[in-house]
Amino acid sequence: MQEKTRAEKIAEVLDNLGCPKYRLAQVYEAIYKKGFREYSAISTLPMAVRNRLRAELGEVLVLKNIHETKSRQALKILFETKDGYRIETVRMLFNPTEERPEEHESLCISSQCGCALGCSFCATGKIGFRKNLTPDEIADQVLYFRQIGDTIGSISLMGMGEPFANPHLFDALEILTSPKLMGISPRRLSVSTIGIVPGIQRLIKEYPNVNLSFSLHSPFPDQREKLMPIARTYPTDQVMKAVDQYVEKTNHKAFIAYILLKNENDSAEHAQALASLIKERGRKSYLYHVSLVRFNPGPAASQYEKPTLEAISKFRTILDRNGIKNTLRQCFGVEVKAACGQLYAAYARQ
Ligand code: SF4
Repeated sequence: MQEKTRAEKIAEVLDNLGCPKYRLAQVYEAIYKKGFREYSAISTLPMAVRNRLRAELGEVLVLKNIHETKSRQALKILFETKDGYRIETVRMLFNPTEERPEEHESLCISSQCGCALGCSFCATGKIGFRKNLTPDEIADQVLYFRQIGDTIGSISLMGMGEPFANPHLFDALEILTSPKLMGISPRRLSVSTIGIVPGIQRLIKEYPNVNLSFSLHSPFPDQREKLMPIARTYPTDQVMKAVDQYVEKTNHKAFIAYILLKNENDSAEHAQALASLIKERGRKSYLYHVSLVRFNPGPAASQYEKPTLEAISKFRTILDRNGIKNTLRQCFGVEVKAACGQLYAAYARQ
């Protein structure tokens, strides 16, 4: 049976104490909106209630910050869960771009410790699967930043793990977006998936305003299966149909993530096939946006290399000529080991 969430436990404690209904709203407001770190500090509550919350629930956060790596544009935190698993969260500061002319912050959070899906270019995949994070462990990566007084622009579930492989993901989305709890607009949240079709379909039904990013990484099915074994279960055409449904129903942009690997998937032929795949989407193909990422080599995935700037530029020119919107994501990785799973791997070796 799934463990109760903190919000449920708080409600239970207050109920057992016979508190009037408005007390629950007070506690939720203090913990989730104002970022109180201790129940005992919520001065609007009677002392007996504060003491009981503290005695029964302990610390507010279920995660402990055990290591930080900083650069000018990125802060990467290694958190430890209460049962001793380590996960990564990265806060990034993006320079202004044509699309977003102001500097903005974004948080990249994890959904699992490790990952079972074994994509060949991914450092987290090399760790293997350790555990699905609980709803609180996912949401507390954001709550931590609220507690330290940071304003968080957008939040992407793009850290360790495949979000749709974790059955607790939707409960975490509830904590993050519920107006009673963290109250974050779903438009500021993104789920990044390697293409778990039932997960995409559930997102369309339950959280249609959450942004969706599909990691394609190759327009060619054979190559995609080699890079990402899950493509054997959910082939590209099936996933693209699910993404089409998302676009059709929501009229929101869908992001196609594409990690460029030198001499693997960065050729003109790949760019042209990617452009054709998007143009085939028909009248709403203008809502597909390719988000390119330059591979960041790490110790765990050494068979791949960073593509040249020239190859990236050629790739983008082909997309541009075909009218496919694309951006090259800024890369903060080398200084802070920000590629998925690398901080964890470095820390584990210490
Ligand atoms: S890319 Fe994502 S799905 Fe693939 S192994 Fe890494 S964490 Fe798992």
